[in-house]
Amino acid sequence: MTMRARFAPSPTGYLHIGGARTALYSWLYARKHGGKFILRIEDTDRERSSTESVNAILEGMTWLGLEYDEGPFYQTDRFDRYKEVIQTLLDEGKAYKCYCSREELDVLREQQMANKEKPRYNGLCRDGAEPREGIEPVIRFRNPPEGGVVIDDMIKGRVVIQNSELDDLIIARGDGSPTYNLTVVVDDLDMGITHVVRGDDHLNNTPRQINILRAMGAEPPRYAHVPMILGEDGKRLSKRHGAVSVMSYRDQGLLPEALINYLVRLGWSHGDQEMFSLEELIELFDVADVNRAASTFNPDKLLWINQQYIINSDPEHVLHHLSFHLGNIDLDPTEGPDIIEVIKAQRERAKTLVELAKICEFYYRDFSTFPEKAAKKAFKGDAGLILANIRDKLAALSEWNRGAIHGQMEAVVAEMEIGFGKIGMPLRLAVTGGNPSPDLDLTIELVGREATLRRIDQAIARINQ
Ligand code: GLU
Repeated sequence: MTMRARFAPSPTGYLHIGGARTALYSWLYARKHGGKFILRIEDTDRERSSTESVNAILEGMTWLGLEYDEGPFYQTDRFDRYKEVIQTLLDEGKAYKCYCSREELDVLREQQMANKEKPRYNGLCRDGAEPREGIEPVIRFRNPPEGGVVIDDMIKGRVVIQNSELDDLIIARGDGSPTYNLTVVVDDLDMGITHVVRGDDHLNNTPRQINILRAMGAEPPRYAHVPMILGEDGKRLSKRHGAVSVMSYRDQGLLPEALINYLVRLGWSHGDQEMFSLEELIELFDVADVNRAASTFNPDKLLWINQQYIINSDPEHVLHHLSFHLGNIDLDPTEGPDIIEVIKAQRERAKTLVELAKICEFYYRDFSTFPEKAAKKAFKGDAGLILANIRDKLAALSEWNRGAIHGQMEAVVAEMEIGFGKIGMPLRLAVTGGNPSPDLDLTIELVGREATLRRIDQAIARINQ
């Protein structure tokens, strides 16, 4: 039997970090076992669901590279099927109509709370109830009164829940619409799901779902409940902790594989290895090895990993993702130095692609101001004369490469009997405008002759002001 895993988001917002990690674990596990990964959109809550959210989730998954083999399936397309199952459960006496009014249930709840009991339905309509005028009955699942449910969770281990703890769950509302636990069960069954990887906030639904599955004559899938992600203050990760949407990390300049690498490590490890290629992850990752305890989100570490990926990835690949950020600053790198060479020159100086785009900009675009402090330091003393000298020497070069450029800088140093810093500082500021840059000769080679001379002239003008 092929294993079949799924990701089943409710489209009530963007794809957030927690959801993305759950999806990733499910996806990796499916890939590892040559199984199928199914995407199911749980959109039955029509008031909270939106097309924008569906699109945001799909966009996030595409960006992360979590491609699905089947789907997306939409629960709102499957109402007929849910109705059919509910009717069968009713026909077989495994569910019943409940005519208790909201007011009655509220009173019951208050009494139970006052008695310090766990609020639960008291089963009043369980053994047959007369229809009541003005009340559209809900349908409740007849939970087994005795025994217990054992969940052999792949992460949490063995969890046992007594049926006496569970009450008769509503599986259809008064208007006939199915509830969450019913739709999940029907879908997991119909879609042949063998492994349910999901957040542990669903752990308390699992025994109920198992009971419904068994009532339908099915064996439950394996479950893996993934612990949650906490912010550094120990509270559940939320907007308060900054960006939690996957796409906002794209906007902040992350490479998707850096986020993948970070997310997988957040709750799973393999010795003390930090960096994993996707192939390695597919081979090494196992849901059963996911930590039982919650993990803490560490934005600094995420940035560190991103930097490692920027430095070590194929520059063509970096460019693929950098293009978006170059576009954001209206930079078209086709006119000017080879962007691949610029990326190689600059990649060690950026933690994000936003920063990288920014420090690539000066290779293509002149600037008209210098940072005050740097200018005070670099454009003093003989800086003007030194710049004028190197300008002439660079203008006279017959070939434009870093070796030749370096030669001319040395010639100025020798001729004027100055230290290298005396030329390096003003020249670098003149050419880069104060942006982080690699070796000066390489920087100048990439900036190109025309722009270099123009910028030196600009610096000299500024010094002479
Ligand atoms: N739709 C649920 C959610 O987004 C997940 C249900 C499940 O994975 O079983 O929280």
